[in-house]
Amino acid sequence: MTELLSNYLGGKWQAGSGAGTPLFDPVLGDELVRVDATGLDLAAGFAFAREQGGAALRALTYRKRAALLADIVKVLQANRDAYYDIATANSGTVRNDSAVDIDGGIFTLGTYAKLGDTLGDRHYLPDGEATRLGKDPLFQSQHVLVPTRGVALFINAFNFPSWGLWEKAAPALLAGVPVIVKPATATAWLTQRMVRDVVEAGVLPAGALSVVCGSPAGLLDPLQPFDVVSFTGSADTAAVIRSHPAIAQRSVRVNIEADSVNSAVLLPQDGPDTAAFDLLVKEAVREMTVKSGQKCTAIRRVFVPEALYGQAAEAIGARLSKVTVGNPRNDTVRMGALVSRAQFNAVQDGLAYLRKHAQVLHDATQHLVDADPAVACCIGPTLLGVTDADAAAAVHDTEVFGPVATLLPYRDTAHALALVRRGQGSLVASLYGSDAAALGAAAVELADSHGRVHVISPDVAQLHTGHGNVMPQSLHGGPGRAGGGEELGGLRALHFYHRRSAIQASTAVLDALA
Ligand code: NAP
Repeated sequence: MTELLSNYLGGKWQAGSGAGTPLFDPVLGDELVRVDATGLDLAAGFAFAREQGGAALRALTYRKRAALLADIVKVLQANRDAYYDIATANSGTVRNDSAVDIDGGIFTLGTYAKLGDTLGDRHYLPDGEATRLGKDPLFQSQHVLVPTRGVALFINAFNFPSWGLWEKAAPALLAGVPVIVKPATATAWLTQRMVRDVVEAGVLPAGALSVVCGSPAGLLDPLQPFDVVSFTGSADTAAVIRSHPAIAQRSVRVNIEADSVNSAVLLPQDGPDTAAFDLLVKEAVREMTVKSGQKCTAIRRVFVPEALYGQAAEAIGARLSKVTVGNPRNDTVRMGALVSRAQFNAVQDGLAYLRKHAQVLHDATQHLVDADPAVACCIGPTLLGVTDADAAAAVHDTEVFGPVATLLPYRDTAHALALVRRGQGSLVASLYGSDAAALGAAAVELADSHGRVHVISPDVAQLHTGHGNVMPQSLHGGPGRAGGGEELGGLRALHFYHRRSAIQASTAVLDALA
């Protein structure tokens, strides 16, 4: 039997009482560890976090909590090698892809440590200026943001066991709100190990950080009105969460990051032999292959002017054919595995569905390096294409969570932007071109339906941070289908973990407050 990982709840390590769910190596097929949450007293654990962890964090100032984030960074840096080993084994990712998750998480924590330090030694945040409520300026209203006195429950997706924890935990802990994380079962090991290291290092007060691994059954039942839930995962699970009585009846605040059919658009001003064309090709291939396309922000639809459809297909296909796929332990491999057999099957099903509505421009069938095709959950990248983008409803609606994208032609900019909007709200769209005015105008046109618009012009070719990379300084989330959530965006992220209140009082009282 493999090791059964413990949960950390109520200030102590607690093993589930069941046999546990096994986690596997998606390349070699070996069982690695097991997780289980059967029999945990969730209500008592949540109460401990709420009362002990919350009180201890709120007793500290923003600056002191920012210092705790910096301490977590040190703990994680010291154990980085172990995290890479776990990611290789459990997520089947090559080193560069593991870095997106592991170092991306550590970088995000470090960024919030710096941002938090600027908030100083205070216990709440003013929100705007005091405003007078009548003719006499003596009686005014001052809005304040105070940390919510509940827990922050994170229910996370399988593709970012590290970053998914820390991008949420950094603003929550900085805000003074204790965290309980429930990682996706398939890759829970890395999250559990990171929490274990931080707990064992003793850098956080008791109850500030807890982890529950295994079945999510009953997880939302103990939530109370001042708690918050941040969910990342599929739209189907999001719908179940939204309808839970904690949210529907007890007004627990919820943030949803769901799936998204993201776009990349080459604007019509730039032809096939331009830097903008090359940048689009490069980015499309990178987004299809990083983490085997298992990124919520990955490019799923690539829009090019009609006249460039054939050349774009050829250029993207040529680059894809150089991508080696297989065992991430082999240095010649550029793209590792999907995280599980279930995901492998889901990607195959999604691909089969899209193939009914699109042609294959570059086929995934290829030799796997150092991996047994009967065991390894590896799949090569597939570029699909449609010539009638208006009729391609399946392409605008379907997120295949793997190395799959579809090329679509458009007539003019207005047509391209209308097609992008068929995604019904996405996390990110990227625009490629060299005409600054056209790029700016298109970016604003897409802003209402996208959490982020990433503009790549030749002058930032070496500087831009990547279509799919979520930077802590910028908003992450998207309207509509993408879940309607908002994360990160620098200190904006703290709002979710605070309550806003208007204090109406005399100027003297408000001055005393300040
Ligand atoms: P999922 O199946 O919806 O699972 C997400 C999380 O929800 C897991 O921790 C899962 O636990 C838990 N869960 C499942 N049923 C639940 C329930 N009834 N109540 C409470 N929790 C429940 O999604 P996934 O397959 O892990 O992730 C892939 C999807 O996530 C993709 O569609 C992707 O686009 C999306 N995603 C979005 C973002 C973003 O930021 N917008 C980021 C990453 C991924 P178990 O694992 O134990 O079932």
